Amino acid sequence: MHTFTVIVPCYNEEETVPIFYEEIIKNDPFFREKELEPEFLFIDDGSRDGTVAQVRALHERDPRVHLISFSRNFGKEAAMYAGLQNARGEYVVIMDVDLQDPPSLLPDMFAALEEGYDSVATRRVTRKGEPPIRSLFARLFYRIMRKISQTEMMDGARDYRLMTRQMVDAILSMGEYNRFTKGIFGWVGFKTKWLEYENVDRSAGSTKWSFWKLFKYSIEGMTAFSTAPLVFSSVIGVTFCILAFVMVIFIIVRKLLFGDPVSGWPSMVCIILFISGIQFFCTGILGQYMAKTYMEVKARPIYLKDEKNCF
Ligand code: UDP
Ligand code: MG
Repeated sequence: MHTFTVIVPCYNEEETVPIFYEEIIKNDPFFREKELEPEFLFIDDGSRDGTVAQVRALHERDPRVHLISFSRNFGKEAAMYAGLQNARGEYVVIMDVDLQDPPSLLPDMFAALEEGYDSVATRRVTRKGEPPIRSLFARLFYRIMRKISQTEMMDGARDYRLMTRQMVDAILSMGEYNRFTKGIFGWVGFKTKWLEYENVDRSAGSTKWSFWKLFKYSIEGMTAFSTAPLVFSSVIGVTFCILAFVMVIFIIVRKLLFGDPVSGWPSMVCIILFISGIQFFCTGILGQYMAKTYMEVKARPIYLKDEKNCF
């Protein structure tokens, strides 16, 4: 009998928790058939609504439901980490509570593990139901990331993923503070099978990711899994040095051949503005990495538990 842990990060999801539970227990025959003992580990990421009460009610009904509650909102990354740390299963799956990660895929995913894969990941091939501007930026992000990072990252990859214990332990061994799980999954390696499915709309409630939150998350991803922006800023620096050198020669030659009537003030201002702009931009990139290093060095805990746990 192996334990099968389902990790469910929740943030203000009182409406979707009961719907999710009804849906996930439809897999009970599958669990029985494969002799798996499921545990449903809800991570409450500092919700301010009735999420905790909902999960506790489920715990009363079904002791397989567990709850870990955070002292405040630490973000989905922290919730997933807490889930992985506290999962007791030989097999572990991470799943959204809004049913955008269909629980009905579990049997197919498990079949792949039986074939010998270490992890089964999912990606959605469509982004229907998502604002176009968001899809555009998401596509752009993955295209850039594929170029600048050595880690494999799939467009449309979800966090919905079933893993064996050895992969979970590998992920837990990466204790970094700035977590970007999509990159971490790729970084640890292991044999991964990709399942594709059509995007599903949320069962209820609304998305917890604002455009700004996603934008910051993408910067997180870039700095966490690539140092290419640093190289990029050095390249700009060198290019401008060469350009300046050519200009110097040009001006000297012009002075010697034609004399120098005082002119060119506007173009000078443009050049100064442009170059100082680039300088600030590059300092900004540097600052991003420094800020990340600063947070890493502080080694703060990734999440803090509240007392309201049912385990
Ligand atoms: N979530 C979380 N903490 C957060 C934001 C989201 O635990 O700070 C959870 C949320 O409850 C859901 C999952 O992460 O189970 C995905 O969030 P959401 O559905 O809002 O994102 P989307 O599917 O729109 O990308
Ligand atoms: Mg969702």
